Amino acid sequence: MKSIIITGGAGFIGSHLCKRLLDEGNKIICVDNFFTGSKGNIKDLLDNKNFELIRHDIVESIRLESEQIYNFACPASPVHYQHNPIATIKTNILGTLNMLGLAKRTNARILQASTSEVYGDPFVHPQVESYWGNVNPIGIRSCYDEGKRAAETLMMDYKRFHNVDSKIIRIFNTYGPNMNEHDGRVVSNFIVQSLRNQPITIYGDGSQTRSFCYVSDLVDGIIKMMDKDNFTGPVNLGNPVEYSISNIAEIIIKLTNSKSKIEYHPLPQDDPRQRQPDISLAHEKLNWKPNIELETGLKSTIEYFDKVIKK
Ligand code: NAD
Ligand code: UDP
Repeated sequence: MKSIIITGGAGFIGSHLCKRLLDEGNKIICVDNFFTGSKGNIKDLLDNKNFELIRHDIVESIRLESEQIYNFACPASPVHYQHNPIATIKTNILGTLNMLGLAKRTNARILQASTSEVYGDPFVHPQVESYWGNVNPIGIRSCYDEGKRAAETLMMDYKRFHNVDSKIIRIFNTYGPNMNEHDGRVVSNFIVQSLRNQPITIYGDGSQTRSFCYVSDLVDGIIKMMDKDNFTGPVNLGNPVEYSISNIAEIIIKLTNSKSKIEYHPLPQDDPRQRQPDISLAHEKLNWKPNIELETGLKSTIEYFDKVIKK
Protein backbone atom coordinates (compact mmCIF):
# COMPACT_ATOMS: atom_id res chain seq x y z
CA MET A 1 0.00 0.00 0.00
CA LYS A 2 1.40 3.37 -1.05
CA SER A 3 0.37 6.76 0.28
CA ILE A 4 -0.53 8.90 -2.74
CA ILE A 5 -1.52 12.57 -3.05
CA ILE A 6 -3.72 13.47 -6.02
CA THR A 7 -4.22 17.21 -6.49
CA GLY A 8 -7.30 18.00 -8.56
CA GLY A 9 -8.61 14.60 -7.46
CA ALA A 10 -12.26 15.74 -7.55
CA GLY A 11 -11.98 16.75 -11.21
CA PHE A 12 -12.68 14.71 -14.32
CA ILE A 13 -9.39 12.81 -14.76
CA GLY A 14 -8.41 13.07 -11.08
CA SER A 15 -11.56 11.28 -9.92
CA HIS A 16 -10.86 8.30 -12.22
CA LEU A 17 -7.27 8.21 -10.98
CA CYS A 18 -8.41 8.30 -7.31
CA LYS A 19 -10.78 5.39 -7.93
CA ARG A 20 -8.25 3.24 -9.83
CA LEU A 21 -5.44 3.74 -7.32
CA LEU A 22 -7.79 3.13 -4.39
CA ASP A 23 -9.06 -0.09 -6.03
CA GLU A 24 -5.43 -1.16 -6.38
CA GLY A 25 -5.11 -0.98 -2.56
CA ASN A 26 -3.43 2.38 -2.03
CA LYS A 27 -4.13 5.16 0.46
CA ILE A 28 -5.31 8.28 -1.38
CA ILE A 29 -5.18 11.89 -0.22
CA CYS A 30 -7.31 13.93 -2.62
CA VAL A 31 -6.52 17.66 -2.50
CA ASP A 32 -8.98 19.91 -4.34
CA ASN A 33 -10.45 23.42 -4.03
CA PHE A 34 -13.55 22.52 -6.10
CA PHE A 35 -12.90 25.27 -8.65
CA THR A 36 -14.11 22.96 -11.44
CA GLY A 37 -14.31 19.61 -9.65
CA SER A 38 -17.14 18.35 -7.51
CA LYS A 39 -17.82 16.10 -4.54
CA GLY A 40 -20.23 14.20 -6.79
CA ASN A 41 -17.27 12.83 -8.79
CA ILE A 42 -15.81 11.17 -5.69
CA LYS A 43 -18.96 10.49 -3.64
CA ASP A 44 -18.53 6.71 -3.95
CA LEU A 45 -15.03 6.95 -2.48
CA LEU A 46 -15.81 9.08 0.57
CA ASP A 47 -16.69 6.13 2.82
CA ASN A 48 -13.52 4.20 1.99
CA LYS A 49 -11.17 4.29 4.99
CA ASN A 50 -8.20 4.63 2.67
CA PHE A 51 -9.60 7.78 1.02
CA GLU A 52 -9.11 11.22 2.51
CA LEU A 53 -10.48 14.43 1.01
CA ILE A 54 -8.82 17.77 1.81
CA ARG A 55 -10.41 20.99 0.56
CA HIS A 56 -7.37 23.11 -0.18
CA ASP A 57 -6.06 25.50 -2.84
CA ILE A 58 -2.56 24.34 -3.85
CA VAL A 59 -1.54 27.96 -4.39
CA GLU A 60 -1.17 27.90 -0.59
CA SER A 61 1.45 25.56 0.87
CA ILE A 62 0.40 22.44 2.74
CA ARG A 63 2.30 19.92 4.89
CA LEU A 64 1.42 16.33 4.05
CA GLU A 65 3.32 13.04 3.82
CA SER A 66 3.25 10.74 0.81
CA GLU A 67 5.32 8.51 -1.47
CA GLN A 68 3.81 9.72 -4.75
CA ILE A 69 2.18 12.97 -5.90
CA TYR A 70 0.02 13.26 -9.01
CA ASN A 71 -0.24 17.01 -9.67
CA PHE A 72 -3.50 17.36 -11.60
CA ALA A 73 -4.99 20.51 -10.05
CA CYS A 74 -5.76 23.06 -12.76
CA PRO A 75 -8.90 23.89 -14.72
CA ALA A 76 -8.54 22.27 -18.16
CA SER A 77 -11.43 23.71 -20.15
CA PRO A 78 -10.67 26.96 -22.01
CA VAL A 79 -13.96 28.41 -20.72
CA HIS A 80 -12.98 27.78 -17.11
CA TYR A 81 -9.30 28.68 -17.23
CA GLN A 82 -10.12 31.91 -19.04
CA HIS A 83 -12.81 32.69 -16.45
CA ASN A 84 -10.05 33.23 -13.89
CA PRO A 85 -6.73 33.41 -15.77
CA ILE A 86 -4.73 34.69 -12.81
CA ALA A 87 -5.89 31.83 -10.57
CA THR A 88 -4.97 29.47 -13.44
CA ILE A 89 -1.40 30.68 -13.84
CA LYS A 90 -0.96 30.85 -10.04
CA THR A 91 -2.13 27.23 -9.79
CA ASN A 92 0.34 26.20 -12.47
CA ILE A 93 3.32 28.07 -11.05
CA LEU A 94 2.81 28.59 -7.29
CA GLY A 95 0.78 25.38 -6.96
CA THR A 96 3.42 23.32 -8.77
CA LEU A 97 6.18 24.95 -6.68
CA ASN A 98 4.30 23.98 -3.51
CA MET A 99 3.90 20.39 -4.68
CA LEU A 100 7.57 20.22 -5.68
CA GLY A 101 8.51 21.55 -2.23
CA LEU A 102 6.39 18.81 -0.70
CA ALA A 103 8.04 16.19 -2.94
CA LYS A 104 11.49 17.47 -1.96
CA ARG A 105 10.72 17.43 1.77
CA THR A 106 9.16 13.95 1.78
CA ASN A 107 11.33 12.42 -0.96
CA ALA A 108 8.19 11.62 -2.96
CA ARG A 109 8.02 10.91 -6.69
CA ILE A 110 5.96 13.60 -8.45
CA LEU A 111 4.16 13.42 -11.79
CA GLN A 112 3.00 16.61 -13.51
CA ALA A 113 -0.12 16.63 -15.69
CA SER A 114 1.12 18.73 -18.58
CA THR A 115 -0.71 19.14 -21.85
CA SER A 116 -0.61 19.10 -25.63
CA GLU A 117 -1.19 22.87 -25.26
CA VAL A 118 2.56 23.25 -24.70
CA TYR A 119 2.79 22.72 -28.50
CA GLY A 120 0.36 25.64 -29.07
CA ASP A 121 -0.80 25.94 -32.69
CA PRO A 122 1.77 23.43 -33.93
CA PHE A 123 3.92 23.58 -37.06
CA VAL A 124 5.05 19.98 -36.52
CA HIS A 125 2.37 17.37 -37.11
CA PRO A 126 1.85 14.91 -35.44
CA GLN A 127 3.42 16.42 -32.34
CA VAL A 128 6.59 14.78 -31.02
CA GLU A 129 8.02 15.47 -27.56
CA SER A 130 11.15 17.08 -29.04
CA TYR A 131 9.05 19.85 -30.68
CA TRP A 132 9.25 23.09 -28.65
CA GLY A 133 5.89 24.40 -29.80
CA ASN A 134 4.32 27.56 -31.14
CA VAL A 135 2.65 29.31 -28.22
CA ASN A 136 1.38 32.89 -27.98
CA PRO A 137 2.77 34.22 -24.66
CA ILE A 138 0.24 37.07 -24.36
CA GLY A 139 -3.05 35.64 -25.62
CA ILE A 140 -6.19 34.46 -23.85
CA ARG A 141 -4.93 30.85 -23.69
CA SER A 142 -1.51 31.86 -22.31
CA CYS A 143 -2.45 31.58 -18.62
CA TYR A 144 -2.88 27.86 -19.28
CA ASP A 145 -0.33 27.17 -22.04
CA GLU A 146 2.51 29.23 -20.60
CA GLY A 147 1.56 28.21 -17.05
CA LYS A 148 1.92 24.55 -18.02
CA ARG A 149 5.20 25.26 -19.84
CA ALA A 150 6.59 27.02 -16.74
CA ALA A 151 5.40 24.07 -14.61
CA GLU A 152 7.43 21.74 -16.86
CA THR A 153 10.47 24.00 -16.34
CA LEU A 154 9.99 23.80 -12.57
CA MET A 155 9.75 20.00 -12.70
CA MET A 156 13.05 19.82 -14.63
CA ASP A 157 14.87 22.39 -12.45
CA TYR A 158 13.84 20.65 -9.22
CA LYS A 159 15.15 17.43 -10.70
CA ARG A 160 18.49 18.98 -11.79
CA PHE A 161 18.97 21.16 -8.72
CA HIS A 162 17.36 19.19 -5.86
CA ASN A 163 17.33 15.69 -7.32
CA VAL A 164 13.53 15.47 -7.02
CA ASP A 165 12.16 12.39 -8.78
CA SER A 166 9.92 14.34 -11.16
CA LYS A 167 8.03 13.15 -14.24
CA ILE A 168 6.05 14.89 -16.98
CA ILE A 169 3.17 13.63 -19.10
CA ARG A 170 1.63 15.69 -21.92
CA ILE A 171 -2.04 14.79 -22.08
CA PHE A 172 -3.98 15.22 -25.34
CA ASN A 173 -7.77 15.79 -25.43
CA THR A 174 -9.40 13.26 -23.13
CA TYR A 175 -13.11 12.60 -22.58
CA GLY A 176 -15.40 10.33 -20.58
CA PRO A 177 -17.80 10.14 -17.63
CA ASN A 178 -17.35 12.69 -14.79
CA MET A 179 -16.76 15.60 -17.16
CA ASN A 180 -18.76 18.53 -15.87
CA GLU A 181 -22.01 19.14 -17.76
CA HIS A 182 -21.01 22.83 -18.01
CA ASP A 183 -17.34 22.08 -18.68
CA GLY A 184 -17.40 23.80 -22.08
CA ARG A 185 -15.11 21.35 -23.91
CA VAL A 186 -16.18 20.00 -27.23
CA VAL A 187 -17.21 16.42 -26.40
CA SER A 188 -19.28 17.33 -23.32
CA ASN A 189 -20.85 20.34 -25.09
CA PHE A 190 -21.86 18.34 -28.18
CA ILE A 191 -23.23 15.42 -26.15
CA VAL A 192 -25.28 17.63 -23.82
CA GLN A 193 -26.57 19.71 -26.75
CA SER A 194 -27.47 16.57 -28.75
CA LEU A 195 -29.27 14.92 -25.84
CA ARG A 196 -31.34 18.09 -25.38
CA ASN A 197 -31.93 18.46 -29.14
CA GLN A 198 -30.39 21.93 -28.88
CA PRO A 199 -28.16 23.52 -31.55
CA ILE A 200 -24.64 22.04 -31.79
CA THR A 201 -22.19 24.94 -31.42
CA ILE A 202 -19.30 24.54 -33.87
CA TYR A 203 -16.63 27.23 -33.43
CA GLY A 204 -15.13 28.28 -36.76
CA ASP A 205 -15.88 26.12 -39.80
CA GLY A 206 -15.29 22.84 -37.94
CA SER A 207 -12.26 21.87 -40.02
CA GLN A 208 -9.88 22.15 -37.04
CA THR A 209 -8.83 18.75 -35.70
CA ARG A 210 -8.31 17.05 -32.35
CA SER A 211 -7.48 13.46 -31.31
CA PHE A 212 -9.63 12.08 -28.48
CA CYS A 213 -8.57 9.57 -25.82
CA TYR A 214 -11.00 7.73 -23.56
CA VAL A 215 -10.27 8.35 -19.89
CA SER A 216 -9.63 4.71 -18.84
CA ASP A 217 -6.93 4.39 -21.53
CA LEU A 218 -5.35 7.59 -20.30
CA VAL A 219 -5.39 6.47 -16.66
CA ASP A 220 -3.54 3.25 -17.67
CA GLY A 221 -0.82 5.40 -19.27
CA ILE A 222 -0.60 7.82 -16.34
CA ILE A 223 -0.04 5.02 -13.80
CA LYS A 224 2.47 3.24 -16.04
CA MET A 225 4.44 6.47 -16.26
CA MET A 226 4.36 7.05 -12.49
CA ASP A 227 5.59 3.51 -11.84
CA LYS A 228 8.36 3.59 -14.47
CA ASP A 229 11.84 4.04 -13.04
CA ASN A 230 14.54 6.17 -14.67
CA PHE A 231 12.25 7.94 -17.15
CA THR A 232 11.38 11.60 -16.62
CA GLY A 233 9.64 12.29 -19.92
CA PRO A 234 8.03 14.44 -21.11
CA VAL A 235 5.92 11.80 -22.77
CA ASN A 236 2.78 12.29 -24.88
CA LEU A 237 -0.32 10.40 -23.77
CA GLY A 238 -3.30 10.49 -26.11
CA ASN A 239 -5.12 8.68 -28.88
CA PRO A 240 -3.52 9.33 -32.27
CA VAL A 241 -6.73 8.94 -34.30
CA GLU A 242 -7.51 12.46 -35.52
CA TYR A 243 -10.99 13.87 -36.26
CA SER A 244 -12.25 17.22 -37.48
CA ILE A 245 -14.66 18.96 -35.10
CA SER A 246 -17.42 18.71 -37.78
CA ASN A 247 -16.83 14.97 -37.86
CA ILE A 248 -17.22 14.74 -34.08
CA ALA A 249 -20.51 16.64 -34.29
CA GLU A 250 -21.85 14.22 -36.95
CA ILE A 251 -20.82 11.14 -34.94
CA ILE A 252 -22.41 12.44 -31.72
CA ILE A 253 -25.65 13.42 -33.49
CA LYS A 254 -25.82 9.90 -34.98
CA LEU A 255 -25.07 8.10 -31.69
CA THR A 256 -27.65 10.12 -29.74
CA ASN A 257 -30.26 9.95 -32.50
CA SER A 258 -30.58 13.70 -32.06
CA LYS A 259 -32.66 16.28 -33.94
CA SER A 260 -30.02 18.95 -33.23
CA LYS A 261 -28.90 21.23 -36.05
CA ILE A 262 -25.40 22.69 -36.45
CA GLU A 263 -24.90 26.35 -35.48
CA TYR A 264 -21.64 28.10 -36.43
CA HIS A 265 -19.94 30.50 -33.98
CA PRO A 266 -16.72 32.53 -34.28
CA LEU A 267 -13.49 30.61 -33.72
CA PRO A 268 -11.93 31.63 -30.37
CA GLN A 269 -8.55 33.42 -30.49
CA ASP A 270 -5.47 31.18 -30.83
CA ASP A 271 -7.56 28.00 -31.25
CA PRO A 272 -5.05 25.38 -32.52
CA ARG A 273 -5.84 24.21 -36.08
CA GLN A 274 -4.67 20.65 -35.68
CA ARG A 275 -3.56 18.26 -32.97
CA GLN A 276 -2.42 14.66 -33.01
CA PRO A 277 0.00 12.99 -30.62
CA ASP A 278 2.96 10.94 -31.79
CA ILE A 279 2.90 8.21 -29.13
CA SER A 280 5.97 6.23 -30.22
CA LEU A 281 7.84 7.22 -27.05
CA ALA A 282 4.98 6.08 -24.77
CA HIS A 283 4.84 2.82 -26.68
CA GLU A 284 8.59 2.27 -26.49
CA LYS A 285 9.14 3.27 -22.84
CA LEU A 286 5.82 2.33 -21.21
CA ASN A 287 4.49 -0.30 -23.61
CA TRP A 288 1.31 1.81 -23.69
CA LYS A 289 -1.20 2.58 -26.38
CA PRO A 290 -4.92 3.36 -26.16
CA ASN A 291 -7.42 0.61 -26.98
CA ILE A 292 -10.88 2.18 -26.76
CA GLU A 293 -12.31 3.28 -30.10
CA LEU A 294 -14.06 6.64 -30.30
CA GLU A 295 -17.59 5.29 -30.79
CA THR A 296 -17.23 2.91 -27.83
CA GLY A 297 -15.95 5.66 -25.55
CA LEU A 298 -18.59 8.10 -26.75
CA LYS A 299 -21.38 5.60 -26.07
CA SER A 300 -20.40 5.26 -22.41
CA THR A 301 -19.96 9.04 -22.09
CA ILE A 302 -23.41 9.58 -23.64
CA GLU A 303 -24.87 7.09 -21.15
CA TYR A 304 -23.28 9.05 -18.31
CA PHE A 305 -24.59 12.44 -19.48
CA ASP A 306 -28.02 10.99 -20.16
CA LYS A 307 -28.25 10.09 -16.44
CA VAL A 308 -26.84 13.48 -15.34
CA ILE A 309 -29.35 15.39 -17.46
CA LYS A 310 -32.34 13.32 -16.27
CA LYS A 311 -31.48 13.90 -12.57
P1 NAD B 1 -10.95 19.37 -14.35
O1 NAD B 1 -11.20 20.84 -14.45
O2 NAD B 1 -12.12 18.46 -14.41
O3 NAD B 1 -10.14 19.03 -13.02
C1 NAD B 1 -9.24 19.90 -12.41
C2 NAD B 1 -9.39 19.77 -10.90
O4 NAD B 1 -8.42 20.62 -10.27
C3 NAD B 1 -10.76 20.22 -10.39
O5 NAD B 1 -11.26 19.28 -9.47
C4 NAD B 1 -10.48 21.57 -9.72
O6 NAD B 1 -11.42 21.88 -8.73
C5 NAD B 1 -9.07 21.35 -9.22
N1 NAD B 1 -8.32 22.59 -9.01
C6 NAD B 1 -8.16 23.63 -9.87
N2 NAD B 1 -7.36 24.57 -9.34
C7 NAD B 1 -7.00 24.11 -8.10
C8 NAD B 1 -6.19 24.64 -7.06
N3 NAD B 1 -5.58 25.83 -7.17
N4 NAD B 1 -6.06 23.90 -5.93
C9 NAD B 1 -6.66 22.70 -5.79
N5 NAD B 1 -7.45 22.16 -6.74
C10 NAD B 1 -7.61 22.86 -7.89
O7 NAD B 1 -9.91 19.03 -15.50
P2 NAD B 1 -9.38 17.61 -16.03
O8 NAD B 1 -9.79 17.47 -17.43
O9 NAD B 1 -9.65 16.55 -15.06
O10 NAD B 1 -7.81 17.91 -16.05
C11 NAD B 1 -6.96 17.46 -14.99
C12 NAD B 1 -5.53 17.83 -15.30
O11 NAD B 1 -5.13 17.23 -16.55
C13 NAD B 1 -5.30 19.33 -15.44
O12 NAD B 1 -4.05 19.66 -14.87
C14 NAD B 1 -5.26 19.55 -16.93
O13 NAD B 1 -4.47 20.64 -17.29
C15 NAD B 1 -4.65 18.23 -17.44
N6 NAD B 1 -5.05 17.96 -18.82
C16 NAD B 1 -6.32 17.53 -19.12
C17 NAD B 1 -6.66 17.31 -20.44
C18 NAD B 1 -8.03 16.81 -20.82
O14 NAD B 1 -8.29 16.63 -22.02
N7 NAD B 1 -8.91 16.50 -19.92
C19 NAD B 1 -5.74 17.54 -21.46
C20 NAD B 1 -4.48 18.02 -21.12
C21 NAD B 1 -4.13 18.20 -19.79
N1 UDP C 1 -15.29 23.60 -29.93
C1 UDP C 1 -16.45 23.77 -30.69
N2 UDP C 1 -17.63 23.87 -30.03
C2 UDP C 1 -17.75 23.79 -28.67
C3 UDP C 1 -16.57 23.59 -27.91
C4 UDP C 1 -15.36 23.51 -28.56
O1 UDP C 1 -16.40 23.84 -31.92
O2 UDP C 1 -18.89 23.87 -28.17
C5 UDP C 1 -13.99 23.47 -30.64
C6 UDP C 1 -12.91 24.40 -30.12
O3 UDP C 1 -12.97 25.66 -30.77
C7 UDP C 1 -11.66 23.61 -30.47
C8 UDP C 1 -12.09 22.16 -30.33
O4 UDP C 1 -13.52 22.16 -30.41
O5 UDP C 1 -11.29 23.84 -31.82
C9 UDP C 1 -11.66 21.52 -29.02
O6 UDP C 1 -12.03 22.39 -27.99
P1 UDP C 1 -11.90 22.01 -26.44
O7 UDP C 1 -12.30 23.22 -25.67
O8 UDP C 1 -12.62 20.76 -26.18
O9 UDP C 1 -10.36 21.68 -26.23
P2 UDP C 1 -8.98 22.39 -26.70
O10 UDP C 1 -9.26 23.55 -27.60
O11 UDP C 1 -8.34 22.79 -25.44
O12 UDP C 1 -8.29 21.29 -27.42
